[in-house]
Amino acid sequence: MKRRLMIAAAAILAALLAAWAAFDRAPQLPEPSAQLVQAQQGLDEITIAATLDPDVRTLGVRQTLQLTNRTGQRQNAVVLRTWPNVFQSLDTSPCAVDDDLYDLYYPDGFSTGALVMSRAQVNGETVLYRYADTYKTVLSVPVPGGWETAETVELQLEYVVQIPRMAYRFGVWENVFALGNAFAIPAVWQDGAFRTDPYLSVGDPFVSDCANYSVRVTVPEDYVCAGSGYPTVEKNRAERTYCFEAPAVRDFALVISDRFEQASQLQNGVLVTAYASTASQARQLVVSAGKALGLYTSLWGEYPYQSFTLAQIHFPHGGMEYPALAMIGAEEIASGGRKLEYTVAHETAHQWWYALVGSDGWHQPWQDEALCEFALLEYAEAQYGAGERADLEQSRVESAMRVTVPQGVTPGSPLSAFADMSEYSLVVYSRGAAYLCALDRTLPEGLNPFLRDYARAYAFARATRDDFEDQLAKSTGEDFAALTRDYLDTYILN
Ligand SMILES: [Zn+2]
Repeated sequence: MKRRLMIAAAAILAALLAAWAAFDRAPQLPEPSAQLVQAQQGLDEITIAATLDPDVRTLGVRQTLQLTNRTGQRQNAVVLRTWPNVFQSLDTSPCAVDDDLYDLYYPDGFSTGALVMSRAQVNGETVLYRYADTYKTVLSVPVPGGWETAETVELQLEYVVQIPRMAYRFGVWENVFALGNAFAIPAVWQDGAFRTDPYLSVGDPFVSDCANYSVRVTVPEDYVCAGSGYPTVEKNRAERTYCFEAPAVRDFALVISDRFEQASQLQNGVLVTAYASTASQARQLVVSAGKALGLYTSLWGEYPYQSFTLAQIHFPHGGMEYPALAMIGAEEIASGGRKLEYTVAHETAHQWWYALVGSDGWHQPWQDEALCEFALLEYAEAQYGAGERADLEQSRVESAMRVTVPQGVTPGSPLSAFADMSEYSLVVYSRGAAYLCALDRTLPEGLNPFLRDYARAYAFARATRDDFEDQLAKSTGEDFAALTRDYLDTYILN
């Protein structure tokens, strides 16, 4: 009996040690997959050297962009998006529109954010840039002598990002610096023009193309950097430089803090890492993200990046997706449980629907958000059974079909149609997911075989709604145009 107890105790100890080793062994970044090596060929190259000064909330940036003219016509200027400038004043901030949310985003009152340019050079020549919009989010940098089709130019920018005191995806709160959409990125060319959509208070009003990012961030020695990749670290006296190689990503985001504990684990050959206030919270995030990543890989095909990172920020909306990175709200992490698990499952799904397969988050936000809500149902069923899936579908999807919303607002509407976040979430997330559930029930094998085809066809690219519908017809051999219109474009009378 005693002997059995000792064996049992030894087994438990061994299991605990193995679990501890799995989490806390120095994480090794896996080699890039053949798919990723292939995807990065010929993309634009963006190199960033940034230095954070936490005391004055600034990020000093030197950025080099090697950009090829893929517009099919001669251009006079390169157009970039400089999102931080929308946070310059109370009048322009998307977070100052709604009084209740204002208090959540700016708990200490308004604080200015900006991207202050000091210099732009094109092929070594200093040029006079200008902003093409009143919000200063559309930066036009002239190319002396013109930018010919297929020609590559080298832009060098110097600027300072002023980080606002805000509980948001861009801002600092309780010494966690969330740097989402903080860097200048190339504007997308579409239908004969550069996209210059305004930053709205609802949704994620961004659209971008994949490029190869190489990012070095220097911080005081007690700070840790999480980002759209897994870094190596260089030590230099009282500073640390975090070096990220992020091939074929459509943006690059960072979360930096001196208050993070870290956990890591390998899942399906991907280094999954989380940063949170406590080590046990970081482990919980890693476990949930690992389960979701494993499931989605089996449903839709490989996650193509080497790492997936989750980082705690202060943010009232659960989570926010960036390539190879998910920001998760501190409150959500603190409350834990199934709500947190489902937030992580939704955000992890964005790695397929947003990061890998890009779509138009401004005009067709359902195309990633509804897919991630559908993904959550798959996750719930895989973890907790068909009953849990049915309950979740009832509470998150079916119930949304019975709420009255303003005339004309449908899941297929652009961001500008929505009055606030709750209306947006109800219509785009929930009613959008109802469309996918209807397809899932109609198709003999469910929706996932189509999603697998869709992921393969549009990996590292952007899919329009037409692309989605065309692929659906191709994969299933059926015409769902009427059903699609019914769900996405038809106003429901309640
Ligand atoms: Zn989402």
